[in-house]
Amino acid sequence: MRDVYTVTDELAGRFDAVNLGRGVPDFGGPSPLHAAAARAVRDGPHQYVASEGTRELRAALAEHYAGAYDPDTEITVTAGATEALRCALASVLAPGDGVLIPEPCYDAYPPLVRSCGGRPVPVPLRREGDRYVLDPADLPVAGARALLLNAPHNPTGWMPGEAELAALAEFAVRHDLVVVADEVYEQLWYGEPHRSVATLPGMRERTIVCSSASKTLSVCGWRVGWALAPARLTAALRDVHRFTTFCAPAPLQAAVAAGLRWAGETGWFAAQRAEYAVRRGLLLDALEAAGWSPARPAGAFFVLARTPVTGDDPFEANDRLVRSRGVAGLPMTTFHSRPERAAGLLRFAFCKRLPVMEDAHRRLTGSLVKGDV
Ligand code: PMP
Ligand code: GLN
Repeated sequence: MRDVYTVTDELAGRFDAVNLGRGVPDFGGPSPLHAAAARAVRDGPHQYVASEGTRELRAALAEHYAGAYDPDTEITVTAGATEALRCALASVLAPGDGVLIPEPCYDAYPPLVRSCGGRPVPVPLRREGDRYVLDPADLPVAGARALLLNAPHNPTGWMPGEAELAALAEFAVRHDLVVVADEVYEQLWYGEPHRSVATLPGMRERTIVCSSASKTLSVCGWRVGWALAPARLTAALRDVHRFTTFCAPAPLQAAVAAGLRWAGETGWFAAQRAEYAVRRGLLLDALEAAGWSPARPAGAFFVLARTPVTGDDPFEANDRLVRSRGVAGLPMTTFHSRPERAAGLLRFAFCKRLPVMEDAHRRLTGSLVKGDV
């Protein structure tokens, strides 16, 4: 079956539309990172490295997370956050275990959970005004083993506020849940800084943080990610990782270690955030002008927006938008457990170069190419 990203790429290609569907940057990260990668590909390592990751990258990660995790026993390098999530879930779940997932959610989650024998249990994120919130009253009472918490959140841009985070942590402690925290967008926030759920009382010992260089350094294709967890959870996760990919790409581990150090020393993460904030502003402005109702993301690089037509089929809405405005979003059907919940919802990614976002702005705010939105 063709996935929604490929369907959208084809639609955008056919009409030469600005494609804001797939959440992948159309730029390749900072140049010092490329230089480090070129050196490592030339000089090695060329063979397998330690399954848990090179000492160099684990040390760079320990520094990146301000010493919060021990590089020897608490940090594992994986092939992207996707593998970290897979290893985390596989090491924690027994057949039939429930996994709470705030919804809408990244569409990889339910298949990942099922492939580890688990059972996805959706918890609604509700739109209130121009943002999404989680109501602790919506957390189910029994039967769950884990919470899969993505913040900053794809696709809503949700970042739990202090009270939401405290309620989630308190719930996890009360029900003895493991929290698998997907923090791939940890560097991308536009107001309050990101705070990991692992930093709340009682949470460090039950949380596996999964993240990666994909969005942090804009190199999704390098497949370098990591899992941070206390030694007990790390040992179980490493047992799965060893027989999944054995190790992440060796020369690129060297490059990511150099890139993280360079970015930390030069303030590059803040500069990247400032650039994203401009693109976010352009997209919000354009969607509002075109009559859509966008939610304001607190983090990540997506705007989730409602079409001007109530109850709209999202694929039809995208088709109309591409034909009339020359801009493509992503239909949210596979981000919901029940397709009808995606009615009228398209996600727009703003991880594209500024001229591309400006072009999208012109198209969304200018005169119609054909017909109506
Ligand atoms: N989690 C979320 C929420 C994502 O949006 C994505 C897509 N980048 C991933 C995980 C996958 O990350 P990676 O490329 O590190 O596997
Ligand atoms: N995580 C990205 C998104 O949500 C890319 C997913 C993909 O290309 N499969 O758009």
